[in-house]
Amino acid sequence: MATETHPETATACWSCGQGAESAHFCASCRKVQPAVPMDFFRFFGLERKLNLDLAALEKEFYRLSRKLHPDLYARASSEEQGWSLVKSSQLNDAYRALKDPVARTQYLLELEGVKLEEQSSAATLAARESGAEKKQVVPPELLEEVFELNMQLQELRMGKQMGEEDPEVITGLRAAKSKFEAMLEGITGELKILWNAWDAALDSEERTGVRDRLVALLNRRSYVRNLVRDVNDALEA
Ligand SMILES: [Zn+2]
Repeated sequence: MATETHPETATACWSCGQGAESAHFCASCRKVQPAVPMDFFRFFGLERKLNLDLAALEKEFYRLSRKLHPDLYARASSEEQGWSLVKSSQLNDAYRALKDPVARTQYLLELEGVKLEEQSSAATLAARESGAEKKQVVPPELLEEVFELNMQLQELRMGKQMGEEDPEVITGLRAAKSKFEAMLEGITGELKILWNAWDAALDSEERTGVRDRLVALLNRRSYVRNLVRDVNDALEA
């Protein structure tokens, strides 16, 4: 996988002075190279593309995991021990982010300078725990569905307060849940189309256009996921 040579990483090996094979190991003496901050794509020697060979990524992950294993550095210098530890941790972060389709897309957008708000579940959770209002704007194409859902949720709440549950409201909410789940699947399909557009984009102008569409799509996805969560919460309450 890591066949591409990045000029900025093809520096001489700290130990033997020969050219290092990759950002991680020397081709001549095989020693681990200094751990420097690098983005997750570069860590795996990949271009910033969204379509990714997951089998190859996994294979490379396990190969690097073995080569960076602390046991192999038990008798190495403390610098090498430190570098292997930092690189192991970078490896885990990089693999986690790149193997997941949505996390990979979000990560690439962040590299491209996009600030995604309310994307991570952790951020959403923190906002909920602090009692902050969700500040997500309803995507225009969902206005009608969201209006209808809020009516149904209100009916459910009112029914519960009166100590009675309207089976029709429950059925309606289950139907809404299925509809939103189907929307999420549709969004995953659209995401793949935009990946192809991103990977094929030839210049920065084209990339900016695709980038903006990716941001809008991820925002819609995050919004719909929150709707599914709200319906689940209401049905389980
Ligand atoms: Zn060397």
